[in-house]
Amino acid sequence: MPGRLSDSPDVASGRLSPATLDANFDDIHPPLSRARALVEASRCYFCFDAPCIEACPTGIDIPSFIRKIATDNVRGAAMDILRENIFGGACARVCPTEVLCEGACVRVAQEGEPVAIGRLQRYATDPRMAEKRHPFSRAPATGKRIAVAGAGPAGLACAHRLAVLGHAVEVFEARPKPGGLNEYGIAAYKLVDDFARREVDFILGVGGITLHPGQALGRDLTLADLRRDYDAVFLGLGLGGVRALGLEGEAIEGVIAAVDYIAALRQADDLATLPVGRRVVVIGGGNTAIDIAVQTARLGAADVTIVYRRGPAEMSATSHEREFAQVNGVRIRHWARPVGLTAHEGHVRGVAFETTRMIGGRLEGTGETFSLVADQVFKAVGQTFIADPLNDGAHALLDLEAGRIVVDEDRRTSLADVWAGGDAIAGGEDLTVSAVQDGKIAAQAIDRALRS
Ligand SMILES: Cc1cc2nc3c(=O)[nH]c(=O)nc-3n(C[C@H](O)[C@H](O)[C@H](O)COP(=O)(O)OP(=O)(O)OC[C@H]3O[C@@H](n4cnc5c(N)ncnc54)[C@H](O)[C@@H]3O)c2cc1C
Ligand code: SF4
Repeated sequence: MPGRLSDSPDVASGRLSPATLDANFDDIHPPLSRARALVEASRCYFCFDAPCIEACPTGIDIPSFIRKIATDNVRGAAMDILRENIFGGACARVCPTEVLCEGACVRVAQEGEPVAIGRLQRYATDPRMAEKRHPFSRAPATGKRIAVAGAGPAGLACAHRLAVLGHAVEVFEARPKPGGLNEYGIAAYKLVDDFARREVDFILGVGGITLHPGQALGRDLTLADLRRDYDAVFLGLGLGGVRALGLEGEAIEGVIAAVDYIAALRQADDLATLPVGRRVVVIGGGNTAIDIAVQTARLGAADVTIVYRRGPAEMSATSHEREFAQVNGVRIRHWARPVGLTAHEGHVRGVAFETTRMIGGRLEGTGETFSLVADQVFKAVGQTFIADPLNDGAHALLDLEAGRIVVDEDRRTSLADVWAGGDAIAGGEDLTVSAVQDGKIAAQAIDRALRS
């Protein structure tokens, strides 16, 4: 059982005034003015064989859209982007550009400062998305019907491309709202003003896509049903499970899965109602760890510490994200792993850690320990794919590798009429933009298969 600590936990809502909360959760990358966009566009060298195109998972012709912005052809720029990436609006806001397109910009080597590709992308796509008329029209109806399970970036990108190609698409989504982690997971200050919902409305504006919210594969319908009733199936189920810390007494109050808390934060009408600890400990080293740490700090937690079992170089959070956390007052401690929890009357009060080191390529505990007092502990040690909806009784219907769906380069699974993409597939990047690309590739492959 967890040990005991005498004082009560300090968890409270409304730690900050409404005005401070509004400011803390405002857009972190506000839109560029026309003047700023033109200056930024003029910095592009319009490289031949541009490395930024190669570095964008959706292969947007970046020099082409920036050249159009430079000549005030903003609509044309938006079309260059949306043709390759229908989630161009979200990606402009959430892509870790420092390791993707902007990381490859030749201006980085010259001046240390890339062209602000993400912000230019937003400058071009925002006005186009606000127009009533959808930018793409649909090809003549093919008479083919495709089922998509999961309305996240992978599922909706696939559905949109299939609809453009003339197919009828039905999307089955377990949660009440579509959008996947854009709606329920991305840090609130990256996608403000209900952007995730507005973008889904924009995507569905193409027509030919019917959305069925609250319909879960494995609960309300089976893979066999979809394979029987549709010409092809796409699975964009994301990662529904949360990895445990593996500590005794982990189920106590105050030990929370970071993704669950973020989902509640993203759906809260009033951020002042969210209970937040005075001292917060986050365990993990990725995006999710950074996001929960920064968001609890911005909700008013006085002391937020991320603890990661390895060094900075091994964190999957980029150096840009680590700096962002530190600027927000978050401390990051490396080389320590949790070994126990302390509790007071069933509520967490602290975490004991053992320091770690690498010996012969293996991570080992040193035997030295320390403790951190905590009013809330957030688990951010990874999400897992839940394969149960794909099971037929005791048997897995699809090949899995490392717990995720195996696909070929066309995103086709081991079943000839089933494709998959996004976080649910093995070997992916776990990024919004990669999920969009998977959906797009799968849609094109499905189209080829159905026409052949
Ligand atoms: C906290 C957090 C922050 C992140 N921040 C960023 C970021 O800043 N930038 C970035 O690029 N990436 C970020 N990511 C990763 C990014 O959100 C994912 O890579 C992306 O959303 C994957 O898209 P997807 O469509 O595969 O899955 P999801 O977005 O997870 O969508 C899957 C959908 O399938 C539905 N579903 C699940 N099971 C079923 C079922 N049985 N039946 C029907 N529907 C089902 C789900 O409800 C969900 O709507 C973040 C991830 C997390 C967890
Ligand atoms: S989609 Fe993302 S990676 Fe690609 S150009 Fe846009 S911001 Fe860069």
